[in-house]
Amino acid sequence: MYNKKKIIFPGSFDPITLGHCDIVNRASNIFSEVIIAIGNNYNKNYMFPIRKRKIWIQNCYRNNNKIKVEVYKNLIISLCKQKKINIILRGLRDVDDFIFEKKFFYINNYLCNQNIETFFLLSSLETSFISSTYVKEIIQKKGPYHKFVPDSVILY
Ligand code: ADP
Repeated sequence: MYNKKKIIFPGSFDPITLGHCDIVNRASNIFSEVIIAIGNNYNKNYMFPIRKRKIWIQNCYRNNNKIKVEVYKNLIISLCKQKKINIILRGLRDVDDFIFEKKFFYINNYLCNQNIETFFLLSSLETSFISSTYVKEIIQKKGPYHKFVPDSVILY
């Protein structure tokens, strides 16, 4: 029996942005628990090590017991099975996200014999332009990254 009240939000969170926080906060008003699952794949080049990505998220949600943090290396559906959760959370900013997410949705469904669902939230207007990719570029160029990330992300 799967617990339908919990949801897993997978991503790189390299680093976590206010766009991610928007999705997490809104989902936490609907679900009893949101597990932020940080991907740590050996074949992906992250800007920040898993230790930092995790601490930033943990500190961000330190006072919110509805938000949990996990790290995963294998398929996200393996973590879903392990946690007995069959709802994945994803955010949609634009058509590009939609095209990517549609494939991700069908692949996960196929792998789980339709026993998994994905819950999509459209990004809020104020955060829909934020992406970790641009935030990383701003950081590399020593720009004011603070505008796009929660206060827990401290670099310079
Ligand atoms: P990935 O490595 O899977 O792209 P990300 O950490 O970039 O992971 O994103 C995880 C999820 O957060 C994805 O569903 C992505 O679409 C969503 N997301 C990222 N930025 C935003 C944003 N500004 N607004 C809404 N959703 C977002």
